[in-house]
Amino acid sequence: MSIAGLSPARIAELTAAEDRRFKESRPKSQAMLARSHGVMPSGVPMPWMAGLQRHDPVFVATGQGASFWDIDGHRYVDFNLVDLAGSLGFAPPAVVEAVQRRLAQGSSFLLPTEDGLIAAELLAARTPMPFWQFTGSATIANTEAVRIARLMTGRERVLMFDGKYHGHFDDALVSTGGNGEQADLLGLPKGVEQKARTVPFNDLAALERALALGDTCCLIAEPMLTNCNIVFPDPGFWPAAERLAKAADVLLVIDEAHTHSFAYGGLTRLWDLHPDMLILGKGFGSGVPFAAYGVTAEIAGLMERHLYSDPGGHGLALGGTTYASALALTAARAALESCMREADYARVDALGQRLATGLEVLFRRQGLAWRAPVIGGRAGWVLAPELPRDAAQSRRAMDHDFADARKLFMANRGLWDAVASAGPGCSFQHGEADIDLYLEVAGEFLAAATG
Ligand code: PMP
Repeated sequence: MSIAGLSPARIAELTAAEDRRFKESRPKSQAMLARSHGVMPSGVPMPWMAGLQRHDPVFVATGQGASFWDIDGHRYVDFNLVDLAGSLGFAPPAVVEAVQRRLAQGSSFLLPTEDGLIAAELLAARTPMPFWQFTGSATIANTEAVRIARLMTGRERVLMFDGKYHGHFDDALVSTGGNGEQADLLGLPKGVEQKARTVPFNDLAALERALALGDTCCLIAEPMLTNCNIVFPDPGFWPAAERLAKAADVLLVIDEAHTHSFAYGGLTRLWDLHPDMLILGKGFGSGVPFAAYGVTAEIAGLMERHLYSDPGGHGLALGGTTYASALALTAARAALESCMREADYARVDALGQRLATGLEVLFRRQGLAWRAPVIGGRAGWVLAPELPRDAAQSRRAMDHDFADARKLFMANRGLWDAVASAGPGCSFQHGEADIDLYLEVAGEFLAAATG
């Protein structure tokens, strides 16, 4: 497919030249990658480090503020933000200090600590959810939410929106297409396609039809799509979708693993959403595995009535030995108290505006009818004149070859751009100069890509 207004041949040429330069100027990373191939599949400790970008990884030495440095000494101002698991930036001082203190005093007990209580109180104060539980990843928080929904409703099917991503667990890796429901990826059990379905975002009629099938336990949704570039809800979409879910007695699970970093208290608070369960994760831990889910008083009661107890082993299948560690909850408390205050979000919001406005100026200057949507610190490149309303439209306004070229071009000029399905984002430690550097290099890239 030809890229909106650009020559595919020119993009391929640019990618090849930038990839050569990328490899040649990173001899230490290249040598370490070759060595790593001997002990790790694809030369990386976790497949996404190789699979999420179509160029070699760099090996990282350190990170500080909005930047990290590779072992060849290259600095990158980071706009990928660990796919939003790095929304606080690198080594946020308050979190570093708290975590160091906690580590020296014991970091995991399989018992509660005061920091966990305070983290839960802070989350209860900032969101509509009065009760909180903690896990090690948003994937597991969603997994546990589905189990609760199945027990509560007696139904099995998980409903999601096309363009979703809620983690690598079986029930979330199913999509509805022309041939009905199918597993998205390999390694899933037969029959998984009967456990979930998807409908297009912003399509209330499709949502109503799916709910009318009567087998849904919960609707899991981001407040807006953020894993397929960014797609906003239509005005009035959420109130109507909530009414439909309630009428069908289906639990609403709002997944704010990403979007919590876009607004104080998340988009649930900003847009006055009314979930039965609210999923958080990613950035809070600054690399310490942390995620959380908030529940209503009714669901908290159900969880207490079905508490897993040993011996006997009955009760809801929730929990794990590495979840809710003292370390994770100390990190989260420090993040909430010292990094994620209302003023911090307001600052990031202004940076996001600067980034998106600057991108649209560049597009116009280059004669490209493209758009740069923004929410909080997260912007996007929409290679089309209109913002998408659903995942299908959003996919048509993305181009992976173009994104590859951009990522390499930027890496060679001191920037780590977002992976293709995301968009550049500002962390809580970015500053105006970081945004201006991104815009300067983006301008150079557009000139090279259209030249
Ligand atoms: N929910 C959403 C909305 C996500 O974007 C992701 C990760 N991209 C997850 C859940 C899963 O998070 P994790 O990989 O930290 O388990």
